Amino acid sequence: MNKENSGTKTGKHYPWKDVGISDPRARLKSIADYASAVEIDRNIPPQRYYRSGVEMIRQADMCLKDDDLEYAYFLYLKFITIFVEKIRNHPDFNAARLKDREENQQTLRRVMPKAEELKKQLLGQYQTELHKYLEDVKEREKKEKERLKQEELERLREEEEKRTKSAALAAVKAAKVAMTANIISPDDAKLKRIPSAPPKTLTSPPTDLPAQTSSKEKRPAVDRSTKPAQCDSFTLRDIVLPTKLMPSFLMLAFSNTMGNKETCGILAGKLERNKLLVTHLLIPEQTGSPDSCVTHNEEDIFDYQDQHNLITLGWIHTHPTQTAFLSSVDLHTHCAYQLLMAEAIAIVCAPKHEETGYFILTPEYGLEFIANCRETGFHPHPTDPPLYMKAKHCKLDVTASINVVDLRRKS
Ligand SMILES: [Zn+2]
Ligand SMILES: [Zn+2]
Repeated sequence: MNKENSGTKTGKHYPWKDVGISDPRARLKSIADYASAVEIDRNIPPQRYYRSGVEMIRQADMCLKDDDLEYAYFLYLKFITIFVEKIRNHPDFNAARLKDREENQQTLRRVMPKAEELKKQLLGQYQTELHKYLEDVKEREKKEKERLKQEELERLREEEEKRTKSAALAAVKAAKVAMTANIISPDDAKLKRIPSAPPKTLTSPPTDLPAQTSSKEKRPAVDRSTKPAQCDSFTLRDIVLPTKLMPSFLMLAFSNTMGNKETCGILAGKLERNKLLVTHLLIPEQTGSPDSCVTHNEEDIFDYQDQHNLITLGWIHTHPTQTAFLSSVDLHTHCAYQLLMAEAIAIVCAPKHEETGYFILTPEYGLEFIANCRETGFHPHPTDPPLYMKAKHCKLDVTASINVVDLRRKS
């Protein structure tokens, strides 16, 4: 819809295959292929899937508002794939709550025509992009031709100039020779011949002069605009965190930290201009120990997020005495977040060491490794290649504010 925006879309990095601009239908297909590649993990209860579905659609709706039709379309298709086809193969499908299933059906009825509509819109957008691209190519070719023509004209002009110069030079030389000859032998007959000599040489330079005309070197033409920008591999969208988030969290965790108990919170927010903004810190009902933190009544968190239209962007927890790192249990906790949202981060605050860590599972290795690890509780993992890394897509914002919502029931 927005002309200015459509140009920047091709510069974005998406997880699906970049098939180039030349075939609009192939572009649609590569999104569909990627969306339908999702597999159901029988170890994740159906209830979790229904919850992910709610988040997925919320994220898709935000993408639409953000004018990112492509990502919205991808999320709708993924949702349809999971809930029309794949969830039925889950061994516990029949044990899923009726309420979840009914709500899911309602969403499906809303999403299916929307996806169909988006498909049409995207096809139109891709065709426009292709048309514009071809026009640009034509325009560039025209300009290049024009440039070459100008260059050739310039070359001819310079050649002509040189020829004239060397002719003049030859004339001067000839004149000098004639004059010297004149001084040595001021003969009347020779004197008469001199004035007629220079004009002749002007039009036809003597052939024994050193050749000068071929000296113009050809500069190769450099045109950086002809190569289309290549997309690198998939990169993550930025997550913007208010700087205030960490001290606010540490303050409310203070008494737990003093009692050597962990505290945890959920990071939630919204998508805006292709950036994920953390706007809320939600503190669920929980029980902490020196090296773990278990949440209760997650429904309270879900309800709050539903009411305020917030997507889950990660979590934060304290290490009261240890340094900032992710334990094996933390890795498994985080895996669920990152599977739902590729950009989701884990923040670890280690006040005793005055450290804060911002982490993600390595997208190309750790995420899949942990997703497939069936162990529970604290257990060793291989460390090479690394399972997690610093989250480079985190950006701190000193001006942004954070809404802290403490859902712990004070007893
Ligand atoms: Zn931890
Ligand atoms: Zn494990």
